[in-house]
Amino acid sequence: MPSIPYKTDYKHTRKFKTKNNKSYSKPEHAKLYNSRRWRGLRNMYYKYNPLCIMCKRNNTIKEGKVVDHIKPVSEGGLFYEWKNLQTLCTQCHAKKTAREVNNRIKQRKRDDASK
Ligand SMILES: [Zn+2]
Repeated sequence: MPSIPYKTDYKHTRKFKTKNNKSYSKPEHAKLYNSRRWRGLRNMYYKYNPLCIMCKRNNTIKEGKVVDHIKPVSEGGLFYEWKNLQTLCTQCHAKKTAREVNNRIKQRKRDDASK
């Protein structure tokens, strides 16, 4: 099993993505995250949704840290779509990312097996 880092430092991931194609997100996404449009939208969204949605579902009130795409952009999710956004705390975001990476690995294995 490939190991998945439990903690994902958002800023560092983003920097890493711009330089390294080996990471799971495309470099053009890094550009999107640096755009003024995204920052404006993200700040606006965060203002209205400051709490972690996943913690809230577990009846925990926790301040969110990351504005995340519900459907990942790399999987066809819309980047600037308000309805595709959710606020997560660092832990929940790391969990979600790890799950997505796991799913992608599984999918890839399935694809390889069917070849
Ligand atoms: Zn949370």
